[in-house]
Amino acid sequence: MMHEETLPLLLKQLRLMVFHRRWEEISEQAQREGWSYGQFLKTLCDAQVSERYQKRLARYIKESKLPPGKTLDLFDFNAAENIDNKKITAYAESSMWVKEAKNLIFFGPSGVGKTHLAAGIAYQMINEGLRCLYYPATKLVQELQKAKQKYALSSELARLARYPLLIIDDIGYVKKTEMESSVLFEVIADRYESGSIIITANQPFGEWDSIFPDSVMTVAAIDRLIHHADIINIEAQSYRKTHALTGGLSF
Ligand code: ADP
Ligand code: MG
Repeated sequence: MMHEETLPLLLKQLRLMVFHRRWEEISEQAQREGWSYGQFLKTLCDAQVSERYQKRLARYIKESKLPPGKTLDLFDFNAAENIDNKKITAYAESSMWVKEAKNLIFFGPSGVGKTHLAAGIAYQMINEGLRCLYYPATKLVQELQKAKQKYALSSELARLARYPLLIIDDIGYVKKTEMESSVLFEVIADRYESGSIIITANQPFGEWDSIFPDSVMTVAAIDRLIHHADIINIEAQSYRKTHALTGGLSF
């Protein structure tokens, strides 16, 4: 007769915490219902895998800093007629483009759903098991600039490189006059063909020379971004405005 006393310790050592917590309860059920050994083991494994997946999901969502609640199921495609539902869904359903380090660039005026769509796609990528990181562009520039001053830019870029998908929201809000925005170029160059970026912007490429320190850098940044990218133009009327109006607010 084999002794079971050390089983909890062994399961802990193996970090099989669901096994540790539930093996007795599930083995009683197995005996009651006459399961095979295989069935018993499979049930425990399923429960362990499922808990690991849920925990990882929660961890990825937390670290992503994505705006809460901006998932695609809450995006009303009927209210945004000129947004290509099929295209967005395709990017949300397959993580291939992230694995191939392709970029997505959303253009459009304020309030049309760029941030919501970018976040919605990113949440789906997290469900697919990919780590994502969201930054308002101005914040990203500030943080990279701070790192640069401490001679820590390369380690900061290495940290960002651990995320297969980086979302840079509202790149047009970065102004070369306010801050040294060359760090933005550094992150784009660093991720070229190695990590995906989703960028949202309310200005077309033609106006991006207000973002980067000089036109050479602007062209170099755009070249790297669009080499493997899809550009999605949204021209819908501001959802924010329409819904504020139907909600009875006046402007
Ligand atoms: P943008 O980034 O283009 O300025 P946002 O994505 O921030 O716009 O959208 C503005 C607000 O309106 C957000 O709260 C967003 O969730 C909501 N919104 C925009 N378009 C839609 C839509 N089609 N369905 C549901 N909510 C939307
Ligand atoms: Mg936005």
